[in-house]
Amino acid sequence: MKVLVIGAGLGGLALARRLVRAGIEVGVRERDSAVETRFQGYRIGLGPDAERALRGCLPERLSPLLDAIGGDLAGPGRAVDTRLTLLGEVPRQDEGTLFDRHVLRHLLLAGMGEHIAFGRKLDGYEELPDGRVRVRYGDGSEELADVVVGADGMGSTVRRRLVPSVRVRVMDRVGAIGRTPLTPRFAGLVPGWSTVVNAPRQQLFLGKMPFRRPPAEAAAELAPDVVLPGTRSYLRWVMMIPAEFAGNVAELEADPVAALAVLRGLVEDWHPDLRALFEDADLANSGIAALRAGDPVRPWPTRPVTLLGDAAHPAPPGGLGANLAFLDAELLGRKLTEVRDGADLLTALAAYEARMCGYAAEALGYAKETFKSFDELRRNAPAV
Ligand SMILES: Cc1cc2nc3c(=O)[nH]c(=O)nc-3n(C[C@H](O)[C@H](O)[C@H](O)COP(=O)(O)OP(=O)(O)OC[C@H]3O[C@@H](n4cnc5c(N)ncnc54)[C@H](O)[C@@H]3O)c2cc1C
Repeated sequence: MKVLVIGAGLGGLALARRLVRAGIEVGVRERDSAVETRFQGYRIGLGPDAERALRGCLPERLSPLLDAIGGDLAGPGRAVDTRLTLLGEVPRQDEGTLFDRHVLRHLLLAGMGEHIAFGRKLDGYEELPDGRVRVRYGDGSEELADVVVGADGMGSTVRRRLVPSVRVRVMDRVGAIGRTPLTPRFAGLVPGWSTVVNAPRQQLFLGKMPFRRPPAEAAAELAPDVVLPGTRSYLRWVMMIPAEFAGNVAELEADPVAALAVLRGLVEDWHPDLRALFEDADLANSGIAALRAGDPVRPWPTRPVTLLGDAAHPAPPGGLGANLAFLDAELLGRKLTEVRDGADLLTALAAYEARMCGYAAEALGYAKETFKSFDELRRNAPAV
């Protein structure tokens, strides 16, 4: 059985690792020309189930390294105004263990070179009479597989063909996302779990990514064959801006310098420590992006083509996208292992799709509640 995974994001790479562990032939095809191509480095929180699923995809010998590159937070959150006057306490959300997405991606990629091809953008696929699938890439080349997995993110080309009824909409808010090195000045902005800065039009969410150990150093000691980026602890910021105040989002998405200039303009009368966050930001990992959300995906007639991660459940940020991507990868990896051992392929894929669509629908509800709670927080804050 040959499995082709489209997309080398968190979900696609985790699945590929799980399949390699099971001795199943797998190839990952990624449209970006390299792992560093786009803004990739933000913090994600993984709950215990997702962390267990991730460990189930990685070789056991990498578990101590995974422990070392996590991060922890303690204490309640707080809401402040733009001059840093305390408005109140915000109950702590349990985000589980914190990880940096870019660092995790490097960990997932380590030693997988022979299975992964960058610069290969899937354009389409067709099912053949013999049950196999032929995929077509942007460069005109083609490849055959027994199973194709669309792990190609929110705008998934695979999903558009497999489940065309699912729509992804641009939301009425734009997200500015980035990070700034965690100096003592900036650490003071977030004494506990998180700090929310409420402004009349924007909301700024601040959270620390405090690595237990610097990832590159931990890898050198615990798994010398794994090279992790030299990322240092940072302060992660996410600003929600009503779309009409963000300027030309399509242009800003491609131009982080212009995006940061817009952000500096939006905060020019804010407290100097908050303004400095945008002045000292890590340019390669900061920017403005339209926020998108999709319809819930319901089980579709099972084919030898399936979906995982954001491709299967396009939820907005604030949801549990990375958690779900790892749960999907582990579950689908397990089902394909049953096929290796003699189970019927379409029956195994149908079981995966039914279960995945069930927990993804619940998580979409959670993401919607999270967005509502942001709005309530802003409405209930004293005027500034
Ligand atoms: C600021 C921010 C914070 C977040 N925080 C959290 C959090 O705390 N907890 C959490 O659970 N989730 C969080 N998420 C969501 C999480 O990052 C995503 O849900 C997760 O990365 C999805 O993984 P994926 O593998 O499905 O897709 P992606 O990581 O988007 O990967 C898809 C890959 O497919 C490639 N691709 C696309 N089209 C093609 C094509 N045609 N051919 C080949 N390759 C293609 C892309 O280049 C990309 O590499 C956050 C997201 C953001 C933006």
